[in-house]
Amino acid sequence: MNLVEKVRQQAFEQPEKTAYYFLGKGTSYGELEQTVARFAAALEDLGVQKGDHVAFLLGNTPHFIISLYASMRIGAVAIPINPIYTADEISYIIKNGDVKVVIALDLLLPLVEAGVHRLPQVEQYIICETTPEIGEKYAALSDAAKEKTKLFSQVLATTARTTDPVDLAPDDTAIILYTSGTTGHPKGAMLTHNNLFSNARDIGDYLQMTTDDRVIATLPVFHVFALTVVVNSPLTRGATILLAPRFSPGEIFELASTYKATVFAGVPTMFNFLYQYEQGDVSAFSSVRLTISGGASLPVSLLHNFEQKFNVRISEGYGLSEASPVTCFNPIDRERKPGSIGQSIVNVENKIVDENGDEVGVGEVGELIVRGPNVMKGYYKMPEETAVAIRDGWLYTGDLASRDEEGYFYIVDRKKDLIIVGGYNVYPREVEEVLFSHEGIVEAAVVGFPDRDFGEAVHAYVVLKDPSLTVEDIRAYCAKHIVKYKVPSVIEILDELPKNTTGKILRRSLKEIAKA
Ligand code: AMP
Repeated sequence: MNLVEKVRQQAFEQPEKTAYYFLGKGTSYGELEQTVARFAAALEDLGVQKGDHVAFLLGNTPHFIISLYASMRIGAVAIPINPIYTADEISYIIKNGDVKVVIALDLLLPLVEAGVHRLPQVEQYIICETTPEIGEKYAALSDAAKEKTKLFSQVLATTARTTDPVDLAPDDTAIILYTSGTTGHPKGAMLTHNNLFSNARDIGDYLQMTTDDRVIATLPVFHVFALTVVVNSPLTRGATILLAPRFSPGEIFELASTYKATVFAGVPTMFNFLYQYEQGDVSAFSSVRLTISGGASLPVSLLHNFEQKFNVRISEGYGLSEASPVTCFNPIDRERKPGSIGQSIVNVENKIVDENGDEVGVGEVGELIVRGPNVMKGYYKMPEETAVAIRDGWLYTGDLASRDEEGYFYIVDRKKDLIIVGGYNVYPREVEEVLFSHEGIVEAAVVGFPDRDFGEAVHAYVVLKDPSLTVEDIRAYCAKHIVKYKVPSVIEILDELPKNTTGKILRRSLKEIAKA
């Protein structure tokens, strides 16, 4: 089984069922199957063959779902890219990823113009119409750019033909996800059809996703968390996706109440924004049976506050691009432990090892390693990096974690984010939890910064709810809860914290601020 066949099966079994809503309009599984089959044929007509690479510069619109399932249907390899990356970042991925066709949002037309010269390997651009001015902008393209560019609707209109899925081997690459490693350029994690299918199935089982679910999709679809948890898994179950083109608390409240959403998935920042949003009526969430947090650690105080306010459970999970992504989750029908990423999901093994790769005891901190059908084939064209990441069949995550007697795992921090102050280990997360537990603080992040005397010093960045709070107050509060060497030596108050489009806090940018 694979995603293509499984979603097609839904179209045969329940053609009238709504696959997704977008801007008030519903599309059924039957219609989705028809459009995917036609777009797949159109891609073939454009010369896309099995094994060719197609990049997506798309947001949370139906174009993404159609493009993904059409590409997989003909055996092409999809490369989703964050559409707001800079031209340099996008060019790097397009070149490194040997991309032949680019499917992009219309706001990226200037990139197409530049790409005609910079990226000669790209044979075709397909532009999705999401704004009314697109016709004029398209007309203004140079002849050279126009020759290589078609509008999404034109491509669909060019063929009445549909195409059946090609044979897909479980180990064929379905998708390449570029993920920023610890150093250097991003690396392309190759996820196979079996990787994607098994994780969508296993997480769907774990979360007991059914055809009755209506899942809010506001996490960016080019990121693996959204891809599996709010796109692939719901589609394979015949559930309904509520596509939200961007995250705004007001729109999420509206979507939840209009469509009686049952599942919400987000990163901790989103939970924080929803919790802080005072205009929202919490009864909008009365149909929600489950909320899911992942992508970064969820502060325990936020978990409690949110659950109390919204009267809904948050189940925290963990994953990474290289594992398609989910490896651990808090059970939804058994004990859930705040601060924990939960237990290994079915079919996936998690283990904590020391520097020599030997398993450590209960409660001891080591590197989390993972094995299962969800673990990537390797990094595209990077055998050396692959050999470092996957050893003896285990994926080394680069995350430090511990485990309790009942097999619940706790992420301590990224290995590279560990701060060493005068020989003592300080995990940023621990300090962040303390800062976050202060009622006057809305957001907090902690990074290490080189220090002449202690090797490294703890720097904290906070966003305040209570503007009267001073740096001294915050320091005194920390000193009450943590040992002296963990108390931030520098505390800076910011208007907001730098975040990436997934909503994860950018520690790298904070280090730049520290340097400045
Ligand atoms: P990505 O490949 O972009 O999905 O990033 C994966 C990384 O996000 C992991 O290696 C972790 O460092 C982090 N991460 C994901 N989920 C969690 C979580 N629940 N708690 C802490 N860190 C997490």
